Amino acid sequence: MIPKTAELLQILPSQISETTANSPPKDDKSWQQQQADALREPARLLQQLALPDSLLAAAEAAGARFSLRVPAAWLARIEKGNPTDPLLRQILPAAEELRSSTAFSTDPVGDRAARAAPGLLHKYQGRVLLMTTGACAIHCRYCFRRHYPYSDDSLLTQLPAALDYIRTDNSIHEVILSGGDPLSLSNSRLAQLIQQIQTIAHVKRLRIHTRTPVALPERIDAGLLEVLNTVKLQSVMVIHCNHPEELDEQVLEALSALRQCGLTLLNQSVLLKGVNDNVDILSHLSQRLFSAGVLAYYLHQLDRVEGAQHFEVPDTEAIALHDALRQQLPGYLLPELVREQRGVGAKTPLQEVCRP
Ligand code: SF4
Repeated sequence: MIPKTAELLQILPSQISETTANSPPKDDKSWQQQQADALREPARLLQQLALPDSLLAAAEAAGARFSLRVPAAWLARIEKGNPTDPLLRQILPAAEELRSSTAFSTDPVGDRAARAAPGLLHKYQGRVLLMTTGACAIHCRYCFRRHYPYSDDSLLTQLPAALDYIRTDNSIHEVILSGGDPLSLSNSRLAQLIQQIQTIAHVKRLRIHTRTPVALPERIDAGLLEVLNTVKLQSVMVIHCNHPEELDEQVLEALSALRQCGLTLLNQSVLLKGVNDNVDILSHLSQRLFSAGVLAYYLHQLDRVEGAQHFEVPDTEAIALHDALRQQLPGYLLPELVREQRGVGAKTPLQEVCRP
């Protein structure tokens, strides 16, 4: 039975697994179990991947600041014994995270200043972003929201105020579900949330920002597809994939199922040193995404979040890389290289940011 709205709104993110475990649709159980079983201990990670113990002290220290979390599906794609594996680099807490730099902050893109209502960010004209949950299937070391105070901003308890904000501003035509990762919510909660948004006449489009189809493809279950199939708004899903090795057969199947729901599928990547700062890797990624029905949308220059300095590719190198990519790909496969700037009303092409 789908819970009533009032009940839904009283559920905190920390209670998600427990609550949904009581009455999940049958096909919810396996992804929730996968999510609950995600690896969180650096020592186990090193042991399972045959990596040297010398990495442990730093992994524990950095993991105490932003915890390790990696689902089995992601783990299986990492090459054992290779400390430079690009998928490992994205999830292993590392010594470099402990360094600080004045250019890097805990709120690099001005999220807190953009908070227009509880759980709602309003940065750009015509669209708002809902912080649906702080939970994610995977913890990415470079996450620009790794310091975000989710516990202060739980949408599930504050949804009425966020919806009121949307209702009273008829210039808002698009609602973006973000977080955290909105696909960390159960199917019934997601259905309820979408239903509420659909009652607002001036909202025409729904956008879902998620890394889950790539990190935890088991999440794309029959129940979720049913929810997505019945959405009346024009719907876009923006996945997050940085390297072609992230796209194994299971992920491709999940993407194909999502596409059959009529969603427009786009991808955003973050340009990451030691992961995808290579023209052949980025070219392969765009092409592999396209064959899975996903268009490359943005290539983000790293948001300068504290703890992620070691992932930054200098702007001049990023622009040169993008120029080289342009030579290799047709225009429709070329993601736009952008930087998000605090207080600016749109993402800005990096070439413009750096123009003298
Ligand atoms: S999935 Fe997205 S929100 Fe979650 S840790 Fe990774 S980058 Fe951050």
